[in-house]
Amino acid sequence: MQALRHILGGRARFGEPLAGHTTWGIGGPAWCHGRAHSAAEAKAVVRAAAKAGVPVKALGRGSNLLVADGGFAGVMLSLKGELARVEIEGQTMRAGGGAHLPAAVKLAARLGLSGLEWAAGIPGSVGGAIAMNAGASGGQISDVLAEVDLLLPDASRQTLPAAALKPAYRRGGLPAGALVLMATLRLGAGDPQAVAARTRAVLERRRASQPLDRRTAGSVFKNPPGDHAGRLIEAAGLKGHSVGPAVVSPRHANFIENQGGASAAQVLQLMDQVRHKVRERFGVDLEPEVEVVGHV
Ligand SMILES: Cc1cc2nc3c(=O)[nH]c(=O)nc-3n(C[C@H](O)[C@H](O)[C@H](O)COP(=O)(O)OP(=O)(O)OC[C@H]3O[C@@H](n4cnc5c(N)ncnc54)[C@H](O)[C@@H]3O)c2cc1C
Repeated sequence: MQALRHILGGRARFGEPLAGHTTWGIGGPAWCHGRAHSAAEAKAVVRAAAKAGVPVKALGRGSNLLVADGGFAGVMLSLKGELARVEIEGQTMRAGGGAHLPAAVKLAARLGLSGLEWAAGIPGSVGGAIAMNAGASGGQISDVLAEVDLLLPDASRQTLPAAALKPAYRRGGLPAGALVLMATLRLGAGDPQAVAARTRAVLERRRASQPLDRRTAGSVFKNPPGDHAGRLIEAAGLKGHSVGPAVVSPRHANFIENQGGASAAQVLQLMDQVRHKVRERFGVDLEPEVEVVGHV
């Protein structure tokens, strides 16, 4: 505890409720929530945590996480400062793992660089997008990823070409426990107006079909091969089905809305009911896309 305070000062917060760090607004306390502003700080945190036998997990924008009501018994580490910057040189984007993905999308669109249009409206971080190979509208981050600078659980640094990760559908292929400190993305030269128009079109499609004004974590389940989880859930008659304030979105059946004060246990119960009903009706086993963190 002392070591983390020494490294991060007031940026190490013990017992910090994670509900304030997730888009669902759900989650118990982290033993420690830290904000590292440089690679050296992140490295020192990982080393100190390893010495204390405490796990470290990267926390981006918490937009794909269901944090347990009991919280997380380790260090949730957010990357800020120079690890949250986005810079462009020619057609190459260098982004910190903690950089806001919408900011990267906006910058690319402003400069007429193509390759990130599909990501418009995904409220995550660059590191989070790489960790789960975020994708939409026919694109995914692995299509433009060239290289990652990683911090490994033994506090060593490693630079890997994207090809070494072997990403798959919603799986980034990062080494276990690796933190993305920086990423290099190769974008294409495009016509600024055309890139901006494509980015806007993606956003508009999203606004028309997703409950963007509600507290959600995006798609709850992965799409099964050749189908859409949302279609199956809707066809099972589950739109609007709820467990307390956790509600299958009436707008998009693969989203669960926290309509006010939902617990992780309630969301998990609702997810179980949805899986059960879809399996019963269609014989399809839905696999969660959101990641459950901590002890449930
Ligand atoms: C309204 C809405 C729409 C969405 N639409 C989409 C969509 O179209 N497509 C899609 O793929 N997702 C979508 N999502 C889900 C989510 O936004 C993405 O998965 C996003 O990439 C997650 O990033 P994050 O920073 O929030 O990650 P978090 O939720 O904070 O973390 C997710 C995982 O990434 C890891 N991680 C985070 N940062 C790092 C890092 N620097 N290094 C290593 N690992 C890290 C975490 O440890 C965790 O395992 C949506 C979510 C919402 C709320």
